[in-house]
Amino acid sequence: MPALATRLSRTRTAATVSQTIKARALTEAGHDVIQLTIGEPDFHSPRHAIDAAYEAALAGDTKYPPQDGSKALKLAVQAKFKRDRGLDYALDEITVSNGGKQALYNAMMATLDDGDEVVIPAPYWGAYGLMVQVAGATPVYVTCPQNNGFKLRPEDLDAAITPKTKLLLLNLPNNPTGAACTREELAAIADVMRKHPNVWIISDDMYEHLVYDGFEYTTIAQVAPDLRERIVTISGVSKSYAMTGWRVGFAAGPKELIRGMTLMQGHATAGVSAPGQAAAVAALNGPQEIVTEMRDIYRRRRDMVVDALNLMPGISCHRPEGAFYVFPNIAGTIGRTTAGGKLIETDQDFAAALLDEAHVALVHGAAFGMSPYLRISYATDDDSLARAMTRMAEFVAGLH
Ligand code: PLP
Repeated sequence: MPALATRLSRTRTAATVSQTIKARALTEAGHDVIQLTIGEPDFHSPRHAIDAAYEAALAGDTKYPPQDGSKALKLAVQAKFKRDRGLDYALDEITVSNGGKQALYNAMMATLDDGDEVVIPAPYWGAYGLMVQVAGATPVYVTCPQNNGFKLRPEDLDAAITPKTKLLLLNLPNNPTGAACTREELAAIADVMRKHPNVWIISDDMYEHLVYDGFEYTTIAQVAPDLRERIVTISGVSKSYAMTGWRVGFAAGPKELIRGMTLMQGHATAGVSAPGQAAAVAALNGPQEIVTEMRDIYRRRRDMVVDALNLMPGISCHRPEGAFYVFPNIAGTIGRTTAGGKLIETDQDFAAALLDEAHVALVHGAAFGMSPYLRISYATDDDSLARAMTRMAEFVAGLH
């Protein structure tokens, strides 16, 4: 066989994906596995979005779309930024991609060179570091401690930036912790960034609509308009509208960067599915009550899961501002042995034993750069969540 590219040695399958594959295999073998691994809403996509895709396809909207997105979707994205964030972007400052993920990838391909460093607050979504490495750059992880609500401390950010730093990645509300920053906390991050004018900022706002208890979501482009020329804000319809499978995301930022991102995308795909874009237009322009309704359900589930976890000996769980994840600390279970005889030395051991012995699938904290923790996605139905918490409580009660 001819040699494969060395690029492949710089990347691997994300741990969330491998854990999901393992859980699926157990399910196929006939076990009743409860999946709390995937960050995917359990709701149906809005009916009006599905209808819009169907009608668009019937009307002939089935040809190659413009590579940076259809005019209708770019207008809808423009209106969304104005409505939600009070931000004005021209159409050439907006680009549409196959999910928020491709927008992130395009942004990295358009900004990073070999040897550059990217500051990634930890815990982090595992995809970031892997993408950075594919782009030839090096991730520099900065711990966001639990006693600071899993939020980035300005002094830690400042200390992590070197002459090689090219990019800061912000993701709020955060996957995996659910942490979101207030306007004041973002302002403190912006103050640090003002000292470092050669660093781009990606704000991954994928979970922007999923904040609870009246938390007011703000993005860094709002807080620091003077940094606008180096901020790209990325979001999409996947999480807010339960539209993960439609693969539509978008980005807004300075024209030259947006042009670079579209260029990179054009080399990989010829734009985003035209009916998918029509569905996204309907979601963004249509009734927004669906977002509020889902948010209320997620909030209830978050509280149910956090309360259940905090009753388990050896586990303590922070109640986060947003997203649909919780990130419990399991320090008190380390060193103990499961009913099935497995010694728990790491959070990975805990997750593996929980899957084998209690058939609950979740992801260990190390996959997100912080141990000993677990990430639990509560974007699943109430009954499964309640059963998972009961199984987990029994598993923990069986530790000795
Ligand atoms: N950003 C974060 C933090 C995510 O967790 C995800 C999906 O899990 C994405 C981006 C990608 O979203 P999309 O499905 O639109 O590609």
